[in-house]
Amino acid sequence: MSELETLARKYALQNALEYEGKASPGPVIGRIMNEMQEMKSRAKEVSEAARKAIASVNSMSFDEQKAELETLAPELLIKQKKEIIKDLPALENAENGVVMRLAPNPSGPLHIGHTRMAILNDEYVKRYGGKLIVRMEDTNPPTVLPEAYKMILEDLDWLGVKYHEVVNQSERFDIYYEYAEKILAAGHGYMCSCESEAWRKLKDEKKECPHRSTAPEVNLELWKKLLAGGFKVHEISMVVKTDINHPNPAVRDFVAMRMVEEPHPLTGTKYKVYPLYNFSVAIDDHLMGMTHVLRGKDHLNNTIRQIYVYDYMGWPKPVFIHYGWVSIEDTVLSTRQIKAAIGEGQYTGWDDVRLGTVSALARRGIAPGAIRQYWNDVGAKAVDIRFSWENLYAMNRDIIDNDAVRLFFVRDPHARPITGIEKLHSSAPLHPERPELGKREVNMEGDIEVWLTSEDLEMAKPGSILRLKDLGNFEIQGTELKYIGNDLDVLKKGAKIVHWVGPDSFDTEVLMPDGSRITGLAEKTTMYYLGKVVQFERFGFVKLDSASTNGRIIAYFANK
Ligand code: GLU
Repeated sequence: MSELETLARKYALQNALEYEGKASPGPVIGRIMNEMQEMKSRAKEVSEAARKAIASVNSMSFDEQKAELETLAPELLIKQKKEIIKDLPALENAENGVVMRLAPNPSGPLHIGHTRMAILNDEYVKRYGGKLIVRMEDTNPPTVLPEAYKMILEDLDWLGVKYHEVVNQSERFDIYYEYAEKILAAGHGYMCSCESEAWRKLKDEKKECPHRSTAPEVNLELWKKLLAGGFKVHEISMVVKTDINHPNPAVRDFVAMRMVEEPHPLTGTKYKVYPLYNFSVAIDDHLMGMTHVLRGKDHLNNTIRQIYVYDYMGWPKPVFIHYGWVSIEDTVLSTRQIKAAIGEGQYTGWDDVRLGTVSALARRGIAPGAIRQYWNDVGAKAVDIRFSWENLYAMNRDIIDNDAVRLFFVRDPHARPITGIEKLHSSAPLHPERPELGKREVNMEGDIEVWLTSEDLEMAKPGSILRLKDLGNFEIQGTELKYIGNDLDVLKKGAKIVHWVGPDSFDTEVLMPDGSRITGLAEKTTMYYLGKVVQFERFGFVKLDSASTNGRIIAYFANK
């Protein structure tokens, strides 16, 4: 290729990559002229060279264009980073700082759905200053998973969430008792021994149950008797009155305290009377000084119930914000289901890569920054949305691309002897845009053999030419590859660029998020990057998890 032809090809490739695979003459000619000032007077020649290059380049696929530019002029690859991070809307009454909370149920670690509340609350506290409290809502012993307390904090740390305090509701029972008593004394609650179905039915018909009008003194006696262990489980509970005629049946009177017999993983059998969610949350949000409560729309009815407690106690209300429902498809998220399946050995643990848990995403090489950006973009609006793994992956790619070194991985590998040369040398940059990361070198001598993927071999006709990336050009001769030089000109004649590995490569197994496994060979340099996220070229980004003693590498697939 003449210097002009080479330039035309490089800029045509670059321009095509900038515009969805289609280059146009204007910018290509402009860039050539800019670089070869002496061509200014020979515009016709330049435009002819540009036209030819564009015609050839525009007929290639995007991946082919990218692979060729990476070989020809990696410095021209332009990163298509999305720099626009949408700002979350301002919070009202936040000028003097905020106190907010994350209130997970420690029934399991966090999953992708939970990360929304974690990130949004964290973003606001960081923006306005103040305090973020993690409150473990562990008031239902049968659902508490003892390991979850620690796992949740680890998940938050990994996400980069800065919390200032951690409290467990199970340690605050005396406080809930005190307020239950106050509510009863003021006539805003009652001790109810109705059978629960009958009670619900009455409420549905806007009818009061017989206990609703019990005098406060009697209620207080019954309450004390409950605390003293004078009732059996399900025999009686404490109810907060709302409005029995409320148009929304879900809001009419709610159970605040009830007896639980199962021992609690943290407090054992010290307490037998347990608060229910709406009661303990209202009390804690007030006592802990919440200025803003940011939660999912599924809690709207709960917020209305909780406001009754605020009003009875004469407490100022925080700003309540409810964001929309997020549906997350193709992912098992139910803590109960996952726990059972782990028990049955269907999953290797909470970080099994098929799961949508935070630890599984971390294991796969999803960057916490990608999750943060995702929720920042989505914001805290009330509209319901569908979670898009594709968008998350695109954000992840933008983040990890700069640090992930490029390595060759050949799936379903087939050995091919090389003829026509005794010695081969390959020197390939570890990152096309970051020369400072260095190169990996491969030297082969004697009876040389390389491995190619079956896919590439299937499409290569006898007599056709393959360019083995950063190694040379080879003609297919039966099951052999004949070396025919190293000139990049072959690309113009339609030679395909393919990936390969040499004899020192490692057996590698990539675990895919759908549970399947892809086996192949990874080039020998891969072993130096264990624990890191790398890009297996033309395959995708993977996290190199570990290697077995016999040198088999286990990797987890992150995304394309
Ligand atoms: N523990 C509740 C939950 O995880 C907290 C909801 C809230 O009040 O924000 O659903």
